[in-house]
Amino acid sequence: MEVTISIDDLHPEKGWGCEGDKSVEYLQKLNDEFGCKFTLFIPSFYHKKYPLSKHKEWVDFWLDKDWVELASHGYYHMCEDKNSYGECEFFEINSVQQAKNTIELCLEEWDTVGYRPVGWRNPGWLINPLIKDVVDKEFQYVALHTEHNRGLKWDSKMLFGHDGINQTDSINIWNDNTFMFQSHIAGDWNDNCWTEENYLNFRNVIEYLLSQYELSFKTLKEL
Ligand SMILES: [Zn+2]
Repeated sequence: MEVTISIDDLHPEKGWGCEGDKSVEYLQKLNDEFGCKFTLFIPSFYHKKYPLSKHKEWVDFWLDKDWVELASHGYYHMCEDKNSYGECEFFEINSVQQAKNTIELCLEEWDTVGYRPVGWRNPGWLINPLIKDVVDKEFQYVALHTEHNRGLKWDSKMLFGHDGINQTDSINIWNDNTFMFQSHIAGDWNDNCWTEENYLNFRNVIEYLLSQYELSFKTLKEL
């Protein structure tokens, strides 16, 4: 069985995936103990405050680890009008030209730090169908939510699966052979963040799965 673990919303802010953060220690421990790998979904200019181009050392900290993949998770992540669609940046965008501009700016941030992500997840899971093609052509795979994708067909490889690291009951098997865990690095509004409680729960889940299956940890691009 293959196991993937993705983590959303990392950016260069203390508590959101920086060296020294407790959450980051937990990821390191899971890699040391079990060989866990992680795919990190990163907005390249989170909330108009954390452009990757000004934080190359932060990107390099993660690129140094061969058990981590960095993937794209939008530009600002949030909407221009917070009262409209909250954090669903690519759901608010409603013209192809605007989408082209935003994705270009998004990828420019990555280019300045010398890394081009091959994976994408929509911020807030949603995308305006009108602009799907603009995003689709820039990536090799998209990580999607079974319901929130609303039946959109992507040319990029479509990856589904979002079992929380905090789940204690049943876990799904995707594509007959893969466990797909999804989480957030932090945020009071999410219940699947890398808190101590969730780390300990997830560690138990992995120990249980190891007692039942032979596991191979993969990043999403390795699937
Ligand atoms: Zn997000």
